[in-house]
Amino acid sequence: MIEEILANLYRIEIPLPKSPLKALNSYVIRNTERNLIIDTGWNQEECMTAMQAGLGELGVDVGRTDFFITHLHADHFGLLSDLVTETSKIYFNQPDVDRFREGFQPDRFARFARLNGYPENELQAGLQSHPGFKFRPQENLVFHILKEGDTLTIGDYRFRCVETPGHTSGHMCLYEPNRKVFVAGDHILNDITPNIQLWSDDRNPLEEYFASLDKVSKLDIELVLPGHRTLFRNCRERIQELKQHHQKRLDEIISILEKGEMDAFRVASEMSWDILCDSWDLFPVSQKWFATGEAIAHLKYLKEKGIIRSEMRNQRIIFSVNVNHSI
Ligand SMILES: [Zn+2]
Repeated sequence: MIEEILANLYRIEIPLPKSPLKALNSYVIRNTERNLIIDTGWNQEECMTAMQAGLGELGVDVGRTDFFITHLHADHFGLLSDLVTETSKIYFNQPDVDRFREGFQPDRFARFARLNGYPENELQAGLQSHPGFKFRPQENLVFHILKEGDTLTIGDYRFRCVETPGHTSGHMCLYEPNRKVFVAGDHILNDITPNIQLWSDDRNPLEEYFASLDKVSKLDIELVLPGHRTLFRNCRERIQELKQHHQKRLDEIISILEKGEMDAFRVASEMSWDILCDSWDLFPVSQKWFATGEAIAHLKYLKEKGIIRSEMRNQRIIFSVNVNHSI
């Protein structure tokens, strides 16, 4: 499915079969010299078929095309391996490139998941089903690094790079001030909430995410082009909703921990999730993985604020409410 959004700027909907995200929005800017594709879909056949059909219909020659990737997740750049040509430039950010170069490290994930109470019998299935593992691109890609304030010019469009860490540590959006258009990746979505996860102890992604939301709310934006689902205009309002959503999550976790101390996996199992499933046990393995990562990110935020604390017991991290906390 192709939609013309603005002059020479198109959206190709790339299906993501069996994912609750349903599809990825790939944006194509057509230009007489070089075209630009923003985000690609998974390294998988259905994605390739849709991309090729879309580019064919638009008459875009991949031999004269560069790529901008908003962030590390496989649904946004997995397909690159099969799309790049010898002349392609791939624009990407340094923190996500560094993480990509480390490779997918199942052992490191597993170690951290065990510490957070992930049951051994579900751990391997969780890792195997991870789209970052299944649909990632090959590792030999060459990247051209962009940072805050850099400009990307394609035809009449002059995009400014806006670093928006949170969803990933290097997440980057593009802002076109003349048209007041904002390419949001997974930083701000309209119909669903971007997932903020943590699978290591070296970041505080929710804190980063709140700061990135505040930064974007200062921009004059009329149209948001998100990585998934529908385009939207009410950017500042949506930012407020997303902040409230995470605040509600934080409050919910505090009340869960007020009932008793527990590990992150158990916290995730007691949180309310927007998924059609009767019980936590019936959650698909991949969704349990995302839910636990989301719980860990929120727990980390609360811990850094001094509202909760953690302690290592029997090789597990156990969280409890700090008795002296004040919110
Ligand atoms: Zn993502």
